[in-house]
Amino acid sequence: MYQDLFSLFDTEPQKALQQLIKDVLRNFKLSTIFDCVRHAVVIAILVGPLMTLDALAQGSRVEMPKNKYSVSQDVQLGRQAAGEVRQQMPLLSRDSRINDYVEDVGRRLVSAIPREYQQSGFQYSFEVVNASDINAFALPGGPMFVNRGMIEAARTEGEMAGVMAHEISHVVLRHGTAQATKANSAKFQLPAIGGAILGAILGGNVGSVISQGTQFGLGAYFLKYSREYERDADILGAQIMARAGYDPRDLANMFRTIERQSGGSSGPEWLSSHPNPGNRYQVINEEASRLRVSGSSRSNSAEFSQVQSELRRMSKALTMQEIANRQTSQNTRSYPAGSRVEQNVEYPAGNYRAYRGSNLFEINVPGNWQAFEEQSSVTFAPRGAYGNYQGQSVFTHGAIVGIANVGSRNLQAASEQYINGLLQNNSYLQAQGRFRRSTIDGRQALAITLTGRSPVTGANEAVMVYTSLLRNGNLFYVINVVPREQYRYYERAFNTMLQSINLNG
Ligand SMILES: [Zn+2]
Repeated sequence: MYQDLFSLFDTEPQKALQQLIKDVLRNFKLSTIFDCVRHAVVIAILVGPLMTLDALAQGSRVEMPKNKYSVSQDVQLGRQAAGEVRQQMPLLSRDSRINDYVEDVGRRLVSAIPREYQQSGFQYSFEVVNASDINAFALPGGPMFVNRGMIEAARTEGEMAGVMAHEISHVVLRHGTAQATKANSAKFQLPAIGGAILGAILGGNVGSVISQGTQFGLGAYFLKYSREYERDADILGAQIMARAGYDPRDLANMFRTIERQSGGSSGPEWLSSHPNPGNRYQVINEEASRLRVSGSSRSNSAEFSQVQSELRRMSKALTMQEIANRQTSQNTRSYPAGSRVEQNVEYPAGNYRAYRGSNLFEINVPGNWQAFEEQSSVTFAPRGAYGNYQGQSVFTHGAIVGIANVGSRNLQAASEQYINGLLQNNSYLQAQGRFRRSTIDGRQALAITLTGRSPVTGANEAVMVYTSLLRNGNLFYVINVVPREQYRYYERAFNTMLQSINLNG
């Protein structure tokens, strides 16, 4: 059995110590249990310092921070957030040569994660965002998004790999949920991002996800790290670099490159979400001096230069802010200028017209309701029931039909997540009871009623939400909204709409 133990320590500087241990152990008799125990203690005493020596050869030891969440919660949260990112951000095609290349670099780094930090449940993915900011972020459980601006700013493949290795280290060390653990807020419930983008009855502001959901709201926990975590991600990142055959000093160099490009302004996003733990450059270089780069060192590649020139030939990318602004302005245009919420609203007409939504569904809606399309939902409402209120688009009577990516293929779990998000975005609402079984186009569906006093009308509002799964795993939802006392005039229209739905996805 000691043979196994010793095979771990076969490097040159430890030979003498190994011999010493062998000698000591040879003098032990394994005759009694007492001896065995004593034996184990001696091994522990001797192996302890030996381990430290060994660890030094591989670099500094980085501790996993305390975390009250499960590994599968990391995976679920990351998947959900990544779904939102994919809906909100312009991405380069996943089968493009640029994306393939970034993915190759990512895979090489992931396979170099030291064994003791590997999580079998994590699924790494690498996608390129068509945005000009020097930024990159990774979500819990493995989804990573690298901005085009970051790839263009890097001077070598090693520098780009450096940022990616640093991001992978945050994932590996589970810093997002560790930070949530530290925050220890009773109010902070995972996952809180369900309907933040899509369903908001008040607002429904698609653009806000970039500022509130994905980038900053979510970022407070998942994207902006403490200095302590930064240092750990730098150190583990350097180790991953070395094991993957990159010079870990390229990670340090990338920080210099990013600083230079920031031109003394507030600095690129990436630096504000990854604050300098102090002496960053020196600490990484010191760590690098302890590491041996495995295989032949890879700092640059012809492919990297090809990808860079391909990016530079593409039309100019927008900044994240421009992307957010564009979506917000699209959203505020969703109701015609001057439309106002009025006291009296015409009842639903007795005639219906067919509406077809992006080939995924068809529905019949009252003839006097107009359709307002947004990115992944459509609002149907009569005149006087929609308008702008305190800078938000609101509606008081009608329905929203839409599709949400909530990261679960289980109807109950997906619906719960979606409703949680909805309630967080519309804090005046409360769920009445639990989910009820229902059907949409013959498929299993869930229904729940939310009520509360509408800040727009001052009246009690009834909100009925129906959810069902599409074949691609997305959640299809219908939300009916009406002041409670007028429900009886709308019940028939709501039922007719629900029964008319054809799902094609
Ligand atoms: Zn960081």
